[in-house]
Amino acid sequence: MHTVFVTGGAGFIGSHLVDRLVGCDDITQVTVLDALTYAGDRRNLADAEASGKVRFVHGDIRDHDLVSAVLPGHDWVVHLAAESHVDRSLIDVGQSVHTNVMGTQALLDVAMRAGVAKLVHVSTDEVYGPLPTGCATEASPLRPTVPYAASKACSDLLATSYYVSCGVPVCITRSSNNYGPRQHPEKLIPRFLGLLLAGQQITVHGRGRHVRNWLHVEDNCRAIEQVLRAGVPGETYNIGGGTDLTTIELTMLLLEATGRDADAIAYVPDRPANDVRYSTDWSKIAALGFTPRRELPAGLADTVAWYRRHPERLALSALGAGLEAMSA
Ligand code: NAD
Repeated sequence: MHTVFVTGGAGFIGSHLVDRLVGCDDITQVTVLDALTYAGDRRNLADAEASGKVRFVHGDIRDHDLVSAVLPGHDWVVHLAAESHVDRSLIDVGQSVHTNVMGTQALLDVAMRAGVAKLVHVSTDEVYGPLPTGCATEASPLRPTVPYAASKACSDLLATSYYVSCGVPVCITRSSNNYGPRQHPEKLIPRFLGLLLAGQQITVHGRGRHVRNWLHVEDNCRAIEQVLRAGVPGETYNIGGGTDLTTIELTMLLLEATGRDADAIAYVPDRPANDVRYSTDWSKIAALGFTPRRELPAGLADTVAWYRRHPERLALSALGAGLEAMSA
């Protein structure tokens, strides 16, 4: 039997992971620590909290006293809390570094003292930087180009150092772009959907030639659970196997799903450090038994249908609208 401590569980990926964990018979309790920043939403946890297995703690991973009071007693930890938005990281680098680097260090410290059995640190393929061709293995160099990815790369190195020098049983996951219900409306798919459904224009940078691998959030969460159960401490696992699409190909799918045409697109010059392509070799997680199950056409259709049922989840904050305007 296991008890799991999940940071950032009120966010997009975290809440899907909590849904998954509460459904496991051998998991008796899931404690969620979340600061409920602009990106966190307690509504994301409604179904999981109804299971009676979730304890929600409102707090910051950097609050050492709080984390020291609530983490001990859990044998598994999954760390997702982060400033996860690339555009926001460009306007406030300090916030990304404080949360993603200092926050991870604080959590690792408490986990070390508590003697946890496994800690999965959830990271991103963006730490490898742009790859015009080929794909990154877990041994590839880290060459992040934006503050978000750089702060995640720092946190990955810290996590590894706590394994090597202090014996904390850490695994790292680096997944490609996730999509699915409950993603914050500032992220690309819900942002475009919100604007298209409202009859507005969307801005596409540099003719939309950037390639991303799109993985359904439920597939990523299945992979994270696999690493939690079977990952080898000290090892990193790329999580991929979604669908490679250029931004313009994805945009065309969203136009089709919303009944809009290409006139809705405003092309703008590319911005600096808009990485041309990310791609990973995910054979290592495949060897643990993982393969993605959600096909993009059905997954995207479900996602669009979810946002149509929850239009309130597409509303952009003033800052979010400002970020979109900045793109234009
Ligand atoms: P998200 O922005 O939707 O959620 C982040 C959550 O962390 C929010 O609930 C927020 O309130 C919480 N949080 C932020 N700062 C905190 C703090 N100091 N203390 C406690 N809680 C805090 O992010 P997401 O998209 O769900 O991503 C989760 C993790 O997965 C992140 O670490 C991100 O880097 C990583 N990741 C995301 C993607 C993706 O496509 N979304 C891909 C690869 C990796």
